[in-house]
Amino acid sequence: MNWESNVRKVVPYVPGEQPSGKVIKLNTNENPYPPAPGVEALLKNYDVSVLRKYPQPDCRTLVEALAAKYNVKPSQVFVGVGSDDVLAMAFLTFFNSDKSILFPDITYSFYDVWASLFKIPYKQIPLDDDFKIVTSDYKAENGGVVIANPNAPTGVFMGLDGIREILDANRDVVCIVDEAYVDFGAESALSLLPEYDNLLVIQTFSKSRSMAGLRIGYAIGSETMIKYLNDVKYSFNSYTMTALTLELGAEAVRDDEYFKATCEKIIKTRENLKVQLRELGFDFQDSKTNFIFAKHKSVSAEYIFTELKKRNIYVRYWNKPRISEYLRITVGTDEECDTLVVNLKEIIAQGEK
Ligand code: PMP
Repeated sequence: MNWESNVRKVVPYVPGEQPSGKVIKLNTNENPYPPAPGVEALLKNYDVSVLRKYPQPDCRTLVEALAAKYNVKPSQVFVGVGSDDVLAMAFLTFFNSDKSILFPDITYSFYDVWASLFKIPYKQIPLDDDFKIVTSDYKAENGGVVIANPNAPTGVFMGLDGIREILDANRDVVCIVDEAYVDFGAESALSLLPEYDNLLVIQTFSKSRSMAGLRIGYAIGSETMIKYLNDVKYSFNSYTMTALTLELGAEAVRDDEYFKATCEKIIKTRENLKVQLRELGFDFQDSKTNFIFAKHKSVSAEYIFTELKKRNIYVRYWNKPRISEYLRITVGTDEECDTLVVNLKEIIAQGEK
């Protein structure tokens, strides 16, 4: 049994449930609409003989499509297997000092897992009582900063003036801005790239492009940063993206019209859902994402979560300090949200008895 003393022991991240069968799934912030129509067409006509060969190690088909879309050089784009992979590579590449990296206490719960896995010291900085980031807390000496903006699971967006303040105070370390949810009405820090060579912006195809199942994420930053990221990637696995993924991803990026229309639909449904949730007695900070992080005034989140699940409606709940009274509800289609509201009404009436 001695070999066990040499094992790298980690407490893993726990992803949301992926139940099978017919359920209303509002627990992992997936997009309720299908990917762009061109993706299906490409898939139907895909020449499988391509799969005989290794895929492009530099992922150029997808990198070039993203560079054209965001008006940057291909050498400023790095792609990976979902933004989880891109974030993990970025932690490994850029956080290599003895000083602690900083991120909020309530944020994407994978950050502390990667920090532990890679033995990166870290400090979790409390959000204020309204779940807002206190920028002055990020001015102490540190080994790097990670901000999800909009933040998850809170949904709260910090304006670019706040991001700028953090970047200015941290010129000598890398600041990662994780923009997994930026396309649902927030503002991207990509516009700050020409001014800040310490900024790395990370986005994903999993939410606004309806492709969580394909696993595509990307980072945009300075050419120097992207080179360092690629050096680490090539030291780990040259072929991170499948040939099929590269093609389908590039096709999705090219259809900007469908992308915008889908985001608009979700924003509209979200704004409606906000009104309905307030009427039911929920309270929440304004969300600029495809989810709402809400607390009911009198019925416990755990009770609502459990009762919804009995009715095959899945939302996300964490029994963790500061957030154990909150539910994170993904914005689905109008129909899904209507069904959710009808069921919530019954459950709350039951819970208030
Ligand atoms: N960042 C945040 C803030 C997220 O909520 C998620 C989704 N779990 C991710 C990154 C990772 O998404 P993906 O790996 O699907 O791109």
